[in-house]
Amino acid sequence: MNYEVVIGLETHVELNTNSKIFCSCGGHSSAKTPNDCVCPACAGMPGMLPVMNKKVIELAVSAGLMLNCEISRYTTFDKKNYYYPDLPCAYQITQLNHPICTNGCVEVKSSLGTRDIHIKQIHMEEDAGKLVHSGSFSYVDFNRTSVPLIEIVTQPDFRSAEEVLSYLTKLKSMLRFNGISECEEGAMRCDVNISVRPEGSEEFGVRTEIKNMASFEAIEKAINYEAQRHIDAIEFETEELVQETRRYDDASGKTFAMRNKETESDYRYVPDPNLMPIIIDDEWIEEIKKNKPVEVDDMAAQYREAGISEKEIDMIIANQNVAILLDKVVKMGCNAKNAAAWILSDCVGLLRKDGKTIDELDIDANKLGTIINMVESGDINRVSGKKILVAVLEQNVDPVAFCKENGLDKKVDTAVIDKVIDEAISNNAQAVEDYRNGKVKAFQSIFGACMRELKGIVDPAIIKETLENKLK
Ligand code: ADP
Ligand code: ZN
Ligand code: MG
Repeated sequence: MNYEVVIGLETHVELNTNSKIFCSCGGHSSAKTPNDCVCPACAGMPGMLPVMNKKVIELAVSAGLMLNCEISRYTTFDKKNYYYPDLPCAYQITQLNHPICTNGCVEVKSSLGTRDIHIKQIHMEEDAGKLVHSGSFSYVDFNRTSVPLIEIVTQPDFRSAEEVLSYLTKLKSMLRFNGISECEEGAMRCDVNISVRPEGSEEFGVRTEIKNMASFEAIEKAINYEAQRHIDAIEFETEELVQETRRYDDASGKTFAMRNKETESDYRYVPDPNLMPIIIDDEWIEEIKKNKPVEVDDMAAQYREAGISEKEIDMIIANQNVAILLDKVVKMGCNAKNAAAWILSDCVGLLRKDGKTIDELDIDANKLGTIINMVESGDINRVSGKKILVAVLEQNVDPVAFCKENGLDKKVDTAVIDKVIDEAISNNAQAVEDYRNGKVKAFQSIFGACMRELKGIVDPAIIKETLENKLK
């Protein structure tokens, strides 16, 4: 029998604020040593009261607008009670009854097509601290305690691991472009809920929840493992599926049961009497809308219109630094499609050679734009442009001066190109004949002969095109 996998995600995102959610301590990224950013309030000292950080509400509303949610006009906080050493109050302040955003929707592209993923809700909450285990001791670090989070809960709408990753990639760039979260390492964590059902069935199967996954790679592996485990359990009756919480172990690539799924009553939720309900009016929403800078879907449409490929668009959207660089270079008059190739093929290719990633791309937009403009206007050829680019990336030279000093601005006379190619054709009569008789491979030896003369002086693409035309 064929099975369909059904997945719903709960994604925790650390918000980009200067201070914690209910006190004035700096966020944990400003911490230098353990317990650096802690005050009596976030350390859970008796009698301390929470004070709401307005910025948290605004970022949560921004996230809701971004995901096409309804924004609640009345939103409240609840205490979720449980006892654990990283939780000094023995309760977490979160939202159960009146979450800040509900009923959203986002389009996600994958090999299943472009499909709507529905957002059940977004709620605000505080993070817990961190336990550090060392030898026979365990330490607790409260820097992360009370760092603001939003939790974005989807409906069980995903049907493959690929679709989940596509959503997460899009979500991450949307959050970064809109200044909601930097989404650095560990700042975006997912609980993945999975079930399977016979294809065509309307009913959902028993679900399990894999907790606290931070790496996209691990999420993909965990989903595939867990879906297969469910299928085996049903098909071969290897085990009985129960609703439970599991953890994924990266080393073995397997998931393990942690505990039976808690139900709401396990947490003894109560409305937090120390925090007033928050009323959000039209005026406030309008103000937040004004600061909402970019629609990732609109950006993609613009790039598409400029002739940039889908693969390149995905890379640009996933990397804010690339998008900003591209934007600046295009403003200098460079062609967008060319500029995308310069950035994504040439610059990133050079970085890769040094073992660096696209995140580490750090080039002066002015200098890159100058090089591209020189090539586009025909002042230099692409090969010279590439040489200048290498010098800019490695030594941060001035492109115009470097070009002059190294004689790269000398344009090669097309007569010279023609002469070299004509000679190569007459010196390689056999290869020319073979090629004309349909032996495509013979092209290489004639092309090679031209390249020996023109390498580094003329763009290989130009040599190839001229040679092809002459051979025709
Ligand atoms: P709970 O209240 O138990 O946490 P929710 O309704 O909030 O349950 O759902 C939590 C997450 O589990 C949501 O992301 C939802 O989409 C997902 N989910 C619910 N049922 C299923 C299922 N049968 N298979 C996969 N995911 C599911
Ligand atoms: Zn504090
Ligand atoms: Mg839930």
